Amino acid sequence: MKRGKQPLGCPAAHLDTIIGPGLALALALIAAIASIGCEPDPSPSTEAEPASARAAPRRAEEPDASKNVTRIVLDSLARVERPHVVLIMIDTLRRDHVHAYGYPRETTPSIDALARSAIRYDRAYSQSSWTTPSTASILTGRYPSQLGVRKQTDPLPDHATLLPEILRTHGYRTAAVVSHVFISERWNFDQGYDEFDASNSRGHAAVTSASVSDAAIEFIESSFPQGPSFLLVHYFDPHFDYIEHEDFRFSEDTDYEGWVKSGMLFGDLRRKRHEMNDDDFRRLLALYDSEIAFTDHHIGRVLDAIRALGFWDESLVVLSADHGEEFMEHDKFAHGRTLYEEQIRVPLIIKWPNAKQGAVSRRLVQSIDVLPSLLDYLEVPPPPGIAGAPIQRQTRARPT
Ligand SMILES: [Zn+2]
Repeated sequence: MKRGKQPLGCPAAHLDTIIGPGLALALALIAAIASIGCEPDPSPSTEAEPASARAAPRRAEEPDASKNVTRIVLDSLARVERPHVVLIMIDTLRRDHVHAYGYPRETTPSIDALARSAIRYDRAYSQSSWTTPSTASILTGRYPSQLGVRKQTDPLPDHATLLPEILRTHGYRTAAVVSHVFISERWNFDQGYDEFDASNSRGHAAVTSASVSDAAIEFIESSFPQGPSFLLVHYFDPHFDYIEHEDFRFSEDTDYEGWVKSGMLFGDLRRKRHEMNDDDFRRLLALYDSEIAFTDHHIGRVLDAIRALGFWDESLVVLSADHGEEFMEHDKFAHGRTLYEEQIRVPLIIKWPNAKQGAVSRRLVQSIDVLPSLLDYLEVPPPPGIAGAPIQRQTRARPT
């Protein structure tokens, strides 16, 4: 993969200054661009896609309700009344570095295995390109502008109704394991949990996926056998600083002796970005991929714990990212300042209870749709003011 030439599809627009209240407009622009057919599908895993989806024309609108892949899949599955719900969030995971989404390197065997019995949403967008507002949106089904979460100093308001709050009133035990302060109790994200563990919020240089999974598995083993449970698991390792992990190396050039080093300070990387040659850039992406593969390994441990306890079929598992990451597509690194594809087009994979096959949906969906989709499945009325809509009920791709 060459610098600045990643196959990301079309840039959303020049939206550098549109953050927060302009997000709905930004998504409208993205959708408008996507609708003219600029984005090829590199997916290697469409073998189990329903025939109706394969036959669907590649355009933003799916005017016939029968083309709603999520509805087709759900109609084919035996419903579980109160499934365990697990929401796995991976900070800073680019959609196009996930093997199930077509990335050539096998960075994500655990996520790929999950996708083989799940719906993989190919055109999913987060509501923001940084952690606090995007996570707030997926947990509330509301836009960041509705929540007043715009700046780094803005906490989640008390009046926000989070998914765990809703589920707890319906008899769920609820827990979260998070690994960044931006979604910790300091930002008021601990609403609605029986257990809230932010002890892995240890900064950019820490490696936390193993201990995050340890805490998640402890909750699964103690709570799942007792009754319906909700678990949020948030991983942070793919976020810079990029650290290479033993047993998860992708560096092809073993003789590389350049200045891009595992664990180097992000400020140094940003400052020297215009000095990078192709070898430096390959090295950098190999470090990022090592972080992804390491995290994927520990996600696999959590999924295996659910399987080992015999709760796999009756569990509803959602995996997504709060945002992606820029690698010089628009002359910068990292995220949080633009709304280009590389930053807000995210992986979204939902394994519905009793699903045994994989499928792909090309419907345009957003992170705010996750909460209403889950509540619709659970037959729980959504709280007022929700901006998203159940994916399985959408007969037209939005915005129209
Ligand atoms: Zn983040």
